[in-house]
Amino acid sequence: MRTEQPKILCLSGHDPTGGAGIQADIETIAALDGHALTVITAYTVQDTANVVRVTAPDPSLFKAQIETLLADGPIQAVKIGLLGSAGQIPEIVKRVRRLKVPVVLDPVLRAGGGVTLVSRKLPEALIAQLLPHVEVLTPNAAEARLLVPQAETLEACGTELLRRGAKHVLITGGDEPGETVVNLWCRPGRAPRRFVWPRLPGRFHGAGCTLAAAIAVLLARGYSLNTALQDAQTYAHESLKRARSIGRGRPIPGRFP
Ligand code: PLP
Repeated sequence: MRTEQPKILCLSGHDPTGGAGIQADIETIAALDGHALTVITAYTVQDTANVVRVTAPDPSLFKAQIETLLADGPIQAVKIGLLGSAGQIPEIVKRVRRLKVPVVLDPVLRAGGGVTLVSRKLPEALIAQLLPHVEVLTPNAAEARLLVPQAETLEACGTELLRRGAKHVLITGGDEPGETVVNLWCRPGRAPRRFVWPRLPGRFHGAGCTLAAAIAVLLARGYSLNTALQDAQTYAHESLKRARSIGRGRPIPGRFP
């Protein structure tokens, strides 16, 4: 019996288009030879163009699903995406602090179509409570600015997020202007590193979820952080090259080669 496939606990929203959220996690983790354990943090009503509604699941169901999975055997990483309510944060913290496995947090705050997805209280709760347990935080540039509104540059956002407890911050530049996509890795005690990618034409739905899930599964497989960040970006970039249109909005990544 094969037992070495790592398990990643995914706490993510459900996107019925399959472009983002939990389906992005499941597909990415399967493509990179891991197994996703999935707990829904939020239900959404959306299409490939925009999100119209976000609703949190029943809190007792959410807690029981996590407890039951964690009691069933060890896991090797946690990936967190969109949160349905600030009340989910202490429940998650209580459990991840005992696990001692890498936590990758994609702080989903706003959809690519421009709609704000979370309550006003959520960003501060996320920083104050969850950040100290996070190995890699993967905001896009707009989310980094929302999390640290007083910062004047993306580097300053990254520095502040490290100071507030994240071990590493990868700020993605896919939605920023420019001929290339620049992803900024802010890390403790060293100058930030820039990863520069050729810009693919158009905008995508679910790129950030794909990247964060790829980092989580590669860390779960025992890759060094440096290699996990590099290889996860390569995987996300290749998935975007295979993107396909499934509706009237943005194309979704092709996560299986
Ligand atoms: N819906 C869910 C459940 C998500 O997790 C995300 C992003 O992570 C989105 C919508 C928005 O995705 P995008 O900004 O790529 O459109």
